[in-house]
Amino acid sequence: MIESDIRKVTIIGGGPAGYTAALYTARANLTPLVIEGFAWGGQLMITSDVENYPGYPDGVLGPQMMQEFRAQAERFGAEFITDDVTRVDFSERPFRFWVGDEEYHSETVIIATGAVARQLGLESEQKLQGAGVSYCAVCDAAFFRDKEVVVVGGGDSAMEEAIFLTKFATKVTVVHRRDEFRASPIMVDRARANERIEFVLDSAVEDVLGADEGRVTGAAIRNLRTEETTEIPADGFFVAIGHDPSTALFRGQIDMDVGGYIETRGKTTETNVPGVFAAGDVQDHVYRQAVTAAGTGCQAALDAERFLADLEGGVERPLVADEALATPQNW
Ligand code: NAP
Repeated sequence: MIESDIRKVTIIGGGPAGYTAALYTARANLTPLVIEGFAWGGQLMITSDVENYPGYPDGVLGPQMMQEFRAQAERFGAEFITDDVTRVDFSERPFRFWVGDEEYHSETVIIATGAVARQLGLESEQKLQGAGVSYCAVCDAAFFRDKEVVVVGGGDSAMEEAIFLTKFATKVTVVHRRDEFRASPIMVDRARANERIEFVLDSAVEDVLGADEGRVTGAAIRNLRTEETTEIPADGFFVAIGHDPSTALFRGQIDMDVGGYIETRGKTTETNVPGVFAAGDVQDHVYRQAVTAAGTGCQAALDAERFLADLEGGVERPLVADEALATPQNW
């Protein structure tokens, strides 16, 4: 291995966390390599208007915001590979990873591969993403003031999203495929006590209506006990059936929690492998916002920078004690 081939910092993933880590490490003269993924940009690429990112008083389109994040990092020397990492080996430093047959080496790695909201898998759902179909009530509820919406799911997220949506929507119909909830009883009770929320149980969504008009107009629902099909008129359709962190690539290489989220230590972005850091939704199943992802991207960059400075100074930084693991048990 020629030393000049060894990167100081490599960032895997191109979303708010990855590009922010790239910006900070680029401005620290570390010339980061960003392997941003073939479908770069992350979840914001399927978001239309973003109105809750500070600094955009008139809002911004999700894809445009990601383009701007990327350009800002590029301006300071970040380099990009628009492809997917196919294998990693974190067993020793410099770490090794591959994009197809091409092998790369790096002293530090920042994992920022994000998470994906689970989808129902309907063609109409896909067509209407950003046109009434949403996976984030905190992000999009305000677009449905005085409107009616559907929320799909029976977990805590569905209850929380339904309750949040009632701040804006006049009616929220929660559609769940069973008559029992995965959500905690307290959340179900809270939702049940809310006059604006109605439940349609034992039911599956057959179709999101409105694909021809280019905006959600309702949902076709099938009762799984009676096989009866009904239509619920709605302007918004929120899918809240869980998220999957994009961590398959790192299985067996790094500590994860039972949900597959990467564990970070204390208030840092350190993983159990010294020199590997994790930022954004890949290690956060609580907040999941672009701005919080960007925040942890900044943290990971500073953590990596300190790690490299210590290495140059001959200091092996000890890991934070295990009991300081940041995984919340109850939230
Ligand atoms: P979750 O607990 O896995 O619940 C997913 C829900 O979606 C389940 O009710 C499931 O139905 C349903 N579902 C899954 N796939 C579906 C499909 N293809 N079609 C229709 N329905 C489908 O996910 P979550 O609600 O996002 O919560 C994830 C974790 O975060 C949980 O541990 C939760 O407690 C926690 N959380 C906590 C809070 C809070 O305390 N404030 C808020 C949000 C999340 P089945 O039940 O039939 O499987």
